Amino acid sequence: MNNKIISLEALSNATLPNNSGNFGNIFHPDNYDHYRNAVNSTLDLVQEFLYRNNKPFSGIEAREMKGMVQQIDLNQKLSNYNELLAEVDDIYVKHATAFHLPQYVAHLNCPVVIPALAGEILVSAINSSQDTYDQSAGGTFMERKLIDWTADQIGYNTNESDGVFTAGGSQSNLMGLVMMRDCFSQKRYNHNIKMDGLPAEASRFRIFVSDKSHFSNLKNASIMGLGEKSIVKVPTDDRFRMDISLLKKYIKREEQLGNIPIGIVATAGTTDFGNIDPLEDIANISEHYNIWMHVDAAYGCALLLSDKYRDLINGIERADSVTIDYHKSFFQPISSSAFIVKNKKELLILKHHADYLNPKEMDEEEIPAQINKSITQSTRRFDALKLWFTLRMMGREQLAEYTDTVIDLTKDAAAMITEDADFELLSDSDLSVLVFRYVNPEISDLNALNQYIKMKLFYSGEILVASTKVDGNFYLKFTFLNPITTTEDIHQILTTIKEHGKDFNSEK
Ligand SMILES: *Cc1c(COP(=O)(O)O)cnc(C)c1O
Repeated sequence: MNNKIISLEALSNATLPNNSGNFGNIFHPDNYDHYRNAVNSTLDLVQEFLYRNNKPFSGIEAREMKGMVQQIDLNQKLSNYNELLAEVDDIYVKHATAFHLPQYVAHLNCPVVIPALAGEILVSAINSSQDTYDQSAGGTFMERKLIDWTADQIGYNTNESDGVFTAGGSQSNLMGLVMMRDCFSQKRYNHNIKMDGLPAEASRFRIFVSDKSHFSNLKNASIMGLGEKSIVKVPTDDRFRMDISLLKKYIKREEQLGNIPIGIVATAGTTDFGNIDPLEDIANISEHYNIWMHVDAAYGCALLLSDKYRDLINGIERADSVTIDYHKSFFQPISSSAFIVKNKKELLILKHHADYLNPKEMDEEEIPAQINKSITQSTRRFDALKLWFTLRMMGREQLAEYTDTVIDLTKDAAAMITEDADFELLSDSDLSVLVFRYVNPEISDLNALNQYIKMKLFYSGEILVASTKVDGNFYLKFTFLNPITTTEDIHQILTTIKEHGKDFNSEK
């Protein structure tokens, strides 16, 4: 393995043309050698990152990191790629979090697949912009085909569904809430929010989410002018899923207070617990009240492909709209996400005509403009190409197999933690999150003990775990997204956690 480590000093300056004083930096056929050499040199640094960084994190403290970055004078340019790559290695690559290592079990950051990385090269070099056909051509239709494919996985009728790639799940959730609000206002009051702003009733609009739903719902409600007060958090059951009898009760309570329920957000895979709200029950309730149902499947969308675990998200096809995060659950590089809507007519509510981009006379199916569906982006990357590369090279089945492997591994890890008297498992998972803590009968302050363990792991950089608070208590959290991780890796991780736990004992 060592012989694969290259020295940056060994890179030849000679292969890189001296491009000062001419237009050699422009991406253009005259400068292809420059492009290829620059990319190849950068690939050497990628190789270095892979073979050298054998811990998920260097453990560097933020203060030191900040100092290294701050001392650089951006007005003094460097003279060649060697200097540049050495600089970026020092202040970034050496300390970058390595999501691909099995010892990274913290947040929802998946390892990425190689076909997507190959696609990324084309995405950035050709640099299509997805807003209109004349800036993307085939890109527009490829994105639309992937949207249709995703809608088909959800179980939508693809003649009626539609959607768009977005920058992330938070943005997709924003689209879900905007559609919920605007369609409600249009249908109930014949009031067009896009043109006329919020109706007077909007101060009483209420949106129901579980108390474990993603915080982007709060932020989104706030930027939509509904205020965080419009978000009603319904408590969860013992498996951290929205409690349906309480949902019914909370809707009635809000109505009695004179407030107006406009929709429900179901979370298919909560960030903290990986559990899935009861989608069929929520669909029944939103049908009963004739209000919008949005499913935040940023995490749980992986199950769409799985024959083994698909039934966990049955009912998702009854939602009016769905958030999909390919960069959480489809092994895609950031950014890659989508917002999918069941009824494409409703998406028209977002449409805006700019004379220079998508004038009315061009508004035909033959010359489609994805900008009509995009809420906060005009110029937009062709992220869909990465998913195209992935699907065409790996196929749906292999993606599903990766997901199944991760879920099975999580079940094994849950069993290991349950059987071990040094640990207490708070929550196993529909997906791949485990919430647990280290326990020691001799130590009463379990919060301090587990905080200590997390801090020790972080600054040694050997293992990155996440944490969360439940009822005021501090828990450690594993998020598994890497199909390469083995039960032996997990055994090692648990052993290391115990060792730190014992240190705490002796330091007291
Ligand atoms: C991560 C996450 C989001 C936000 O997605 P981003 O891509 O980070 O913006 C929304 N909902 C859930 C359940 C998530 O886990």
